[in-house]
Amino acid sequence: MEIGFIGLGNMGAPMARNLAAAGHRVTGFDVSGAAVEGVAKAASAAEAATGREAVITMLPSGAILGSVYAEIVPAAAPGTLMLDCSTVDVASARDAATAATSAGLEPVDAPVSGGTGGASAGTLTFMAGGSEAGFARAVPLFEVMGARSVHCGGPGAGQAAKICNNMVLGISMIGVCEAFALAGKLGLDAAALYEVISTSSGQCWSVTTYCPVPGVGPESPADRDYRPGFAAELMLKDLGLAREAAAASDAATPLGTHAAELYDAFVAGGGRGQDFSAMLPWLAKQGRDG
Ligand code: NAD
Repeated sequence: MEIGFIGLGNMGAPMARNLAAAGHRVTGFDVSGAAVEGVAKAASAAEAATGREAVITMLPSGAILGSVYAEIVPAAAPGTLMLDCSTVDVASARDAATAATSAGLEPVDAPVSGGTGGASAGTLTFMAGGSEAGFARAVPLFEVMGARSVHCGGPGAGQAAKICNNMVLGISMIGVCEAFALAGKLGLDAAALYEVISTSSGQCWSVTTYCPVPGVGPESPADRDYRPGFAAELMLKDLGLAREAAAASDAATPLGTHAAELYDAFVAGGGRGQDFSAMLPWLAKQGRDG
């Protein structure tokens, strides 16, 4: 396929490289001037979008997605598959889809989970929103860049699924960190608690796959001085998106709101650049009054 790829950052660069390595002709653009092995360089987003069968975006925010779509929607040929893999707010995703549909393009929002490791290895999970036909056209690209894709519904449904999943993750990681911090103060061995929780009703991904205690459970960022992994500020971004979506739809998400407040305090208090599981040492050094 002839593919335009806009946003060649930590995630976009390895995704574009994998598409090129699989034999697709990829033309990329990033405002930073980033170049990627096997990917031709365009001089603008509009040039990257012109004459392609698919245009993929991997950008930091909904506002940037909107400004990029203002340039690329008029440039893209009718029928082009417009695949946005950025994590953005549901409203921006729906606006981008409406603009693309009005211009006769085929939009699919498809945010990912799996992080930079998954992007490099081509093992991402895609959560997609759009028409059946759009999803079917995107699947061969998902199969190159990822290991799994789920069609969640119409425009914006991919973003909705992503922020709901990450709200669970943020809340569950804080719960797990609180339990291990409490265990430490009670003199309970962390490895013993891991054995119990990982086989009992408290079992969840934050314990069994990503245990925040160094030296306990499978290898995780805790074993690498909490280098990300999934950076705390990205978790804060996703919890902010969940909070916005909850406010816009009048949904009660009290723990999601509290999780966002805690990640906000953690990021502001030195957590920026650390893995989101470094919530554990941050909590462990506090008493009940902070
Ligand atoms: P990043 O900041 O490394 O990359 C974003 C890129 O977009 C940058 O290279 C930037 O120069 C480029 N950019 C900004 N404005 C642009 C414009 N107007 N035109 C062209 N390029 C522009 O971020 P990332 O880690 O690659 O994340 C990208 C998206 O994926 C984000 O929405 C993020 O939330 C999401 N995401 C990231 C991870 C992760 O672990 N890094 C995991 C899942 C999802």
